[in-house]
Amino acid sequence: MNKKASEIFDIPKKARRKKLIELIPDYEIDDVFRKTLENQKYNKISLNFWGNERKFLEIEAYYLKENNEVMLIINDYTPIQKMEENFKEFLGNASHELRTPLTSIQILIDLFSEKKITLEEIYSEFFPYLRREIERMSKLISNLLNLSRLEAGVIELQPKDVSLYESVINVLDRLSPHISKKNLKVSINLPENIVIFADPQYLDTILFNLIENAVKYTPSLGKIEVGVNDKNEYLVLWVQDTGIGIPEKDIDRIFDRFYRVSKSRTNEDGFSSGLGLSIVKKLVERHGWSIKVESKLGEGTKFEIIIPKRKEGNNI
Ligand code: ADP
Repeated sequence: MNKKASEIFDIPKKARRKKLIELIPDYEIDDVFRKTLENQKYNKISLNFWGNERKFLEIEAYYLKENNEVMLIINDYTPIQKMEENFKEFLGNASHELRTPLTSIQILIDLFSEKKITLEEIYSEFFPYLRREIERMSKLISNLLNLSRLEAGVIELQPKDVSLYESVINVLDRLSPHISKKNLKVSINLPENIVIFADPQYLDTILFNLIENAVKYTPSLGKIEVGVNDKNEYLVLWVQDTGIGIPEKDIDRIFDRFYRVSKSRTNEDGFSSGLGLSIVKKLVERHGWSIKVESKLGEGTKFEIIIPKRKEGNNI
């Protein structure tokens, strides 16, 4: 057994000289091993293996004539399987998100054309609702477009000197209704004159997604801080919150497409698509920067973007 196989089945090195079924407590694997020894042919099975966590495996069994042995080749498709599951779930959510407002619009048109509601009622009751729904639809669609363009590699950055302070203020302004609704305290720890070389539109997307998440995942009366540290060779731009935090087991996956920690973590601001951070990561990398995250469940989360300074040293 090689190192990878013992990792997949979580078997300590010492324990290896044992019966297969004792080492790997799975009857399907034991069966395919015995069957191959018997029929002396190639056999293949797919199965869910329940160790510490569920793994989706494909097992190929080869009969080795010379020594009357069987060789098992284990293919671990868990990450692909998980991605597919997340994607299916996302499709379901996204279709639902898009359909709900469309149904409302349709009902509204019917009611209006049958003269069951007045124009006045439309203005006062339906328009605010529709505006909110349409904002959510367009956000979802622009996230999807951004992601697919980024993945297709067709996004051209148009970097120039941008004021980081102004970019942050601009994002905070747009989020201010949500910030005040939750009574969050926001502090900005960055000099007003700091300038970085970035594509302004995409820098805005990065900041917006990170700060919006901080707002979304921080309960009322919490605190959000945005700041920059100058580390000589590079700048560290950070967004920190005192929110619900991210469980350790999820932290490596939050930048994956469609990955959400759990459905029930937001309430009134509702829809979470699992796209925001994957877009952030791709945009950060396209700029030649990198992103890190630290989090403690129930205490808060800190995202850090490492921005190397340009050789001429004129990006601060
Ligand atoms: P979305 O927020 O739309 O679900 P993201 O890609 O932005 O998607 O984030 C992925 C997951 O990471 C979220 O579902 C959320 O659970 C978690 N997350 C992101 N930012 C934070 C944060 N600041 N605090 C706690 N959890 C977070």
